[in-house]
Amino acid sequence: MTIERRSTREVNVGGVRVGGGNPVVVQSMTNTDTEDIKSTAKQVAELARAGSELVRITVNTEAAAAAVPAIRERLDMMGCDVPLVGDFHYNGHTLLTKYPDCAQILAKYRINPGNVGFGRKRDDQFATIIEKAIEYGKPVRIGVNWGSLDQKLLARMMDENAAQARPADAEVVMREALVVSALQGAEQAEALGMPADAIILSAKVSAVQDLIAVYRELSSRCNNPLHLGLTEAGMGSKGIVASTAALSVLLQEGIGDTIRISLTPAPGQPRTDEVIVAQELLQTMGLRAFTPLVTACPGCGRTTSTFFQQLASETTAHVRENMPTWKLKYPGVENLSLAVMGCVVNGPGESRHADIGISLPGTGEAPVAPVFIDGEKAATLRGEDLTAEFLQLIDDYVRRRYAPTG
Ligand code: SF4
Repeated sequence: MTIERRSTREVNVGGVRVGGGNPVVVQSMTNTDTEDIKSTAKQVAELARAGSELVRITVNTEAAAAAVPAIRERLDMMGCDVPLVGDFHYNGHTLLTKYPDCAQILAKYRINPGNVGFGRKRDDQFATIIEKAIEYGKPVRIGVNWGSLDQKLLARMMDENAAQARPADAEVVMREALVVSALQGAEQAEALGMPADAIILSAKVSAVQDLIAVYRELSSRCNNPLHLGLTEAGMGSKGIVASTAALSVLLQEGIGDTIRISLTPAPGQPRTDEVIVAQELLQTMGLRAFTPLVTACPGCGRTTSTFFQQLASETTAHVRENMPTWKLKYPGVENLSLAVMGCVVNGPGESRHADIGISLPGTGEAPVAPVFIDGEKAATLRGEDLTAEFLQLIDDYVRRRYAPTG
């Protein structure tokens, strides 16, 4: 089944095309101090290596703005050309004016209409950021957020609602205010001369049903590309499940041109997890292919040893480690399917459906593991070297099947 994508304009972000029917773009954001050039460049490179196609960094201080050219330089020296997006709040107008190299190097500016400034200064400061984007030929994301919604707009809409004969629920007005804030931001930017095909919109909230409702509405009222993300999704499985629940409904309806999964990493956990979740979400929905997926059964009382879990885990890690090289040398390798199964009940059947599958012996079964390649039994592995031999069969298959011919 193919998903019909909503029609949106195409926006070019430093060579990465967002919207206009292009594949849904994966992006991420650093959590290093941008002033720390070395750490930020290192993390951007890690995110890009994991598959992030755009990486956002906060540009919150003068020192951060001054660091942006050096971060770019380091990345270029590492051979990492991922476009950098600058996240601006409150002082974006000053930083983009005072640090022209920063303004020039960033591939896109993110503006939050609720955090541009206060009172009469707000419109002027918003206008300055847009003028800088026009001057340097950069696209912008007008990114509204539930936690920093334009309070003046919200208060006005609440008052108008209260004056109605049948006022809507406050929640409904809040959702409408998010949509209106994003749309008004785009209108204002266009009135200032910003090309319509240089504006991406987002309206993030932290509750799944609200996010779905807000994006359905936003999508029906504009044709700007939409950046999807559940803000403050949380840690671990909660963050992954909530983000997936919200984004998969929208993506299934064809809504969304770029995604970011806002996971809170546990201490010591890699930032790159958010990229892997985004890729796996798109891949399991059949929207894109990034890396071979490993099908594995959950295990049960028929496979009581941990060997099966280890093999599934080592196979997944082996594929991820090799992908940066494989994807350059072996076009199409991302579509490879693998299976690691725990016993004879579903093992041979599932393994036959994969390009390469292995069915391990369950408790009490003969200690041999048949391997199926392209649906046919191709080898029987046993003994201590089983893991290495299975990984070698995968490597050989990749070389044989995906090496360019001619
Ligand atoms: S394939 Fe075997 S080990 Fe795996 S869940 Fe099914 S019965 Fe259990």
